[in-house]
Amino acid sequence: MPTKRVPELNELSPLILKVRRHLHRHPELSHQEHETAAFLADHLGRWGIEHTTGMAGTGVVAVIEGGAGDGPTVGIRGDMDALPIQEERQHSYRSTRSGVMHACGHDAHCAMVLGAAKILNSRRDALRGRIKIVFQPSEEVEPSGAEAMISEGVLESPHVDAMLGLHVFPHLRSGLVAIKPGPASAYADEFFIDVHGRGGHAGYPHLTVDPIVASAHVIIALQTIASRRTRPNDPVVVTVGRVMGGTAANVIPQTMRLHGTFRTLNPQVRDNVAEEIDRIAQGVANAHGATAEVKIEWGCPAIFNHVGMSEMLLGVGEQIVGEGNVARLPEALMGADDFAFYSQQVPSICFRLGTGNADKGTEFPLHHPRFDIDEDTLPIGTAVLVEVAQRLCSEGIPPEG
Ligand SMILES: [Zn+2]
Ligand SMILES: [Zn+2]
Repeated sequence: MPTKRVPELNELSPLILKVRRHLHRHPELSHQEHETAAFLADHLGRWGIEHTTGMAGTGVVAVIEGGAGDGPTVGIRGDMDALPIQEERQHSYRSTRSGVMHACGHDAHCAMVLGAAKILNSRRDALRGRIKIVFQPSEEVEPSGAEAMISEGVLESPHVDAMLGLHVFPHLRSGLVAIKPGPASAYADEFFIDVHGRGGHAGYPHLTVDPIVASAHVIIALQTIASRRTRPNDPVVVTVGRVMGGTAANVIPQTMRLHGTFRTLNPQVRDNVAEEIDRIAQGVANAHGATAEVKIEWGCPAIFNHVGMSEMLLGVGEQIVGEGNVARLPEALMGADDFAFYSQQVPSICFRLGTGNADKGTEFPLHHPRFDIDEDTLPIGTAVLVEVAQRLCSEGIPPEG
């Protein structure tokens, strides 16, 4: 029971739930989180927590100064953005904005981080060091909000010694607190392939170079990167997520555009896959008389979970939810999170909070139009953030491993 370690939750849990539902009803797309930021800042202000707004656009940063002597500065990240998805579930806190939905649980992240801020603020007299609350824009799209916050100095003055974050996770059962120590997520990079042909009449294909047929072959051939061109032991995903081109059934267009993402777990494989995408796209397009222009957009690096802090998290998690409800995950996931940018700069951990519960219909994957969380897990995530942050402040950052 999270309330055993963090009794403040007895009183605060209803507010955390209310915040989550308010944010769920009013989702905002990446880099447009103005109302979300104002809503969060308003709560911080009401509780007398010093904060600044407008970092990297809509970012909100608060500092809670401990009163029990010097110690580390521990940052806690909440991501604020929603996704361009039409929510399909019918519930009282359904999104009020057509085509926009918190389908990645960032509403829950903000609610839990806000709750943690209130509790840590009420404990500040007993707190060593300080807490920095970081609400960031745009986790979902480039340019990354985390990267922008870092370049605008979020990790400095005061310098952040360690960062904490969490992500809700429907594939783990409700209430499970889990972490993969070390490399924990994928490098996620994007590519654009413009396949140039020669347009014309659909009834006279021999007088054209059809970029749609050439693109179809490119799409299939790209799948051989994972199956034939990289070591079977190295996980690789190449996904073409958008195919754009054409205007009518009877017109062969000039150009097709493919837009995709590729995921890898190590930097060398990452470079190899980028080269293969370029080589295959050009070669296959040429084989059909077309040409390909390839642009790679380097995106988000992998999250590296500090091993010592991961162990600390598992220990704290055990005290909060019991031994059977914590898990050391054996492998990294092919998803990505721009929390990775913090983890490249300072010792960091981003843990996973299981929210999957088929009885409550919360087993749908992230980014699914029926995605939802088991709200009973909100106090658990909040409690873990509070207790780990406080432990780091009082004991300092543990050795790497
Ligand atoms: Zn997401
Ligand atoms: Zn997310």
